[in-house]
Amino acid sequence: MTIENILSPWAQNVSPSPTLAVDAKAKALKAAGEDVCGFGAGEPDFDTPSFIKEACAKALADGKTKYAPAGGLPELRKALAQQYQDYGVLEEANPAQVVVSPGGKYSCYLAILATCGPGDEVLIPAPYWVSYPEMAKLAGATSKFIFAGDDQGFKVSAGQIEETLSANTKLVILNSPSNPTGCLYEKAEMEAIVELACRKDFLLMSDEIYEHLLYDDAEHHRPASFSKEAAERVITVSGFSKTFSMTGWRLGTLVANPTIAKAVASLQSQTTSNATTFAQFGALAAVQDWDQAMQAVKDMLVHFDRRRLKLLEGLQAIEGISCLRAQGAFYLFPKIAELGLRSEEFSARLLEEEKVAVVSGHAFGAEGYVRLSYATSDEVIEKGLDRLSRFAMSLD
Ligand SMILES: *Cc1c(COP(=O)(O)O)cnc(C)c1O
Repeated sequence: MTIENILSPWAQNVSPSPTLAVDAKAKALKAAGEDVCGFGAGEPDFDTPSFIKEACAKALADGKTKYAPAGGLPELRKALAQQYQDYGVLEEANPAQVVVSPGGKYSCYLAILATCGPGDEVLIPAPYWVSYPEMAKLAGATSKFIFAGDDQGFKVSAGQIEETLSANTKLVILNSPSNPTGCLYEKAEMEAIVELACRKDFLLMSDEIYEHLLYDDAEHHRPASFSKEAAERVITVSGFSKTFSMTGWRLGTLVANPTIAKAVASLQSQTTSNATTFAQFGALAAVQDWDQAMQAVKDMLVHFDRRRLKLLEGLQAIEGISCLRAQGAFYLFPKIAELGLRSEEFSARLLEEEKVAVVSGHAFGAEGYVRLSYATSDEVIEKGLDRLSRFAMSLD
């Protein structure tokens, strides 16, 4: 064995998460005493609602410290199946069509791994979440990208997908509301894509992890709920991380037709076994007391929305920067191309010169843009905007 062949092709080819890297760099600068304004965070900055933490603490005190069934706690799967029936995603509240995983990221990975392999193509609309192409790679599949810039609200059309399809297209990924853009698909736009999936026979993975983080009366649409045929070919992924500020809990959900759900549960049983048992009791409390859970989300959204508008207004006021009014998640994705720097250089120099951390758009397949998360304090937003404005002026 030599240093060249010690790693598998999978390990050689996979890239580490660039969003986690920016956050780590900003944190390291902060730890070294620098006054950093961090807009890199991919997680809410609130604590988990206390009734959820208490349910988990009680489960721990009650000795719920053993393995659970691989697909999830039966009570939790049942409660989620009921919820997805209410959403119109499941025709019957069948717990076997629901799988609880250690994080929505793993739910996405298993959805891809269960359906795609060598020779298959995964179509990924760009700007995309950084993990999708790497997951496709790990499944041995090929990724193809379809770009949608700010002129089309960062949303690909059914027509664009149709033009990109090949005989090998197996899966198309949708993520609404989106990370990194915060944009949402309208119902008609999504219906056209679902109609195409049925007509051209491909699967859809709908990553709905930000489904409850909505502003300006925006509405979330679940493609699996559109028709019986849609329910057959859409894999719905979501989770607790973003909605309830539970990123460290590692709890994701997947809803799919029985064949896919069963395969996902089997893959999980051989790789991680169940999501942490006592953590699932916290999630169960949230699903069972949905009114209280949604009230907690509403309280967080008041803060998110105020920060969103403050950041949006500030960005739009900077000459050379334009920014769409995104209506979901906790990100804005301004265009910085007019300032004359490539995204990567822009974000590197902004961190170096002004100690402001943003994520370069190239990480999301979108040169000319950067991602800012407003899951941070009003004070950081104000200070960061001042610095960003000064940086933009220095580029003239
Ligand atoms: C955060 C995120 C996820 C999943 O997060 P987990 O912490 O693994 O639950 C999935 N998709 C997108 C687009 C995300 O931003």
